[in-house]
Amino acid sequence: MTGQYDLVVIGAGIHGAGVAQAAAAAGQSVLVLEQSSVASATSCRSSKLIHGGLRYLESGQFNLVRESLRERDILLRIAPQLVRLVPFHIPIFRHTARRPWQIRAGLSLYALLGNLRRHAWFASLPRAQWNDLDGLATENLQAVFRYQDAQTDDAALTQAVMRSAQSLGAELIVPGEFLGAQRTANGYAVRYRTAQGDAESHCAALVNAAGPWINTVLARITPHVPPSAIELVQGTHIVLDGPLQRGVYYTEAEDGRAVFVMPWRSMTLVGTTETRFRGDPAQARPQTAEVEYLLRTFRRYFPQRDVQLRDQFAGLRVLPLAEGAAFHRPRETLYRTDAPAQPHLVSIYGGKLTGYRATAQKVLALLRAALPARRARADTVTLQLKD
Ligand SMILES: Cc1cc2nc3c(=O)[nH]c(=O)nc-3n(C[C@H](O)[C@H](O)[C@H](O)COP(=O)(O)OP(=O)(O)OC[C@H]3O[C@@H](n4cnc5c(N)ncnc54)[C@H](O)[C@@H]3O)c2cc1C
Repeated sequence: MTGQYDLVVIGAGIHGAGVAQAAAAAGQSVLVLEQSSVASATSCRSSKLIHGGLRYLESGQFNLVRESLRERDILLRIAPQLVRLVPFHIPIFRHTARRPWQIRAGLSLYALLGNLRRHAWFASLPRAQWNDLDGLATENLQAVFRYQDAQTDDAALTQAVMRSAQSLGAELIVPGEFLGAQRTANGYAVRYRTAQGDAESHCAALVNAAGPWINTVLARITPHVPPSAIELVQGTHIVLDGPLQRGVYYTEAEDGRAVFVMPWRSMTLVGTTETRFRGDPAQARPQTAEVEYLLRTFRRYFPQRDVQLRDQFAGLRVLPLAEGAAFHRPRETLYRTDAPAQPHLVSIYGGKLTGYRATAQKVLALLRAALPARRARADTVTLQLKD
């Protein structure tokens, strides 16, 4: 089996799907290789939030927040059945590190970065409403702020973006394990394994969207491109019996980290953790200490609720290698290319589900010189995603 494509994409998580959709919309011929199944790794194990990331304001990541809020608004328009606004609550107790004035200032800045759009409002809830918050503890409670952000089904969103790419002409091979690539005069020769046997295709440009496998994939490409030094940081979620009626709660765990308590398929999703991970990404599993940490956090804020553990899952963040707690590391997406000018290969490090569309546009901009000019078929800003 051989073929000639403008672009080959390795990985069908949200980034691979997003790049494939953007390239196919720009008229490029696209092949996506996925070793397992669409949205089978990080992109089905996230916190499922489509958000600006209020907490990133504390570390001054204003561009990330502004871009994410813009992308959230686009997704609310193009995928209303998959992305919906939900009330978020920030309870402030006597022990909470962040004080009401800090939250008010943060939410004002968040609204400003969101261009003060209709759903950028926030409010402090009157005390009379505190007993109507899904059993939230009220002892030592000093204030509750409510604002709006969005939630999705991460796997369903990724599948919808992939289907959109396919409807624009992108081909998807599953299972299609990328084995290696060799630079040629015009791009790359790409080898991969399918259910029918091994195959080779040629492409003008190659995108490595392999998530936590990114450096394993990069090491299979010649000539050698030095990988970025990264750390895999595991994030675990637990699913508890019982629904939440009022929305999402932003709680502060014993170590000061933010832990979300969220409604999820008539149950309650609690996450996440940050645990350094070494080894095969396919083996990432929740650890007992992580589950206990999440249960302790939930019980502290919702002491009257029954706790029945229904499910647990772990995903891996790709973060730049650095000293100190992962919680405070930058969450900007990083791009590594095979050449500073006119690259033919881009590797996507890190990133957010929320920003997949903007990430895809940046990847295509980096590959502009490598990709042949084609007649555009659609614009991903307005193209509706179907579930
Ligand atoms: C715990 C946690 C919570 C998060 N919460 C949020 C959130 O609430 N909101 C948000 O916006 N973002 C969130 N994120 C970030 C977001 O989930 C990730 O940035 C995103 O899902 C990464 O997608 P990806 O496509 O890069 O990687 P993945 O989804 O991991 O996809 C990579 C794909 O590459 C494939 N692959 C690997 N090697 C090969 C090969 N050799 N051949 C073929 N295919 C290969 C894999 O099978 C996999 O399907 C969270 C991340 C984590 C870890």
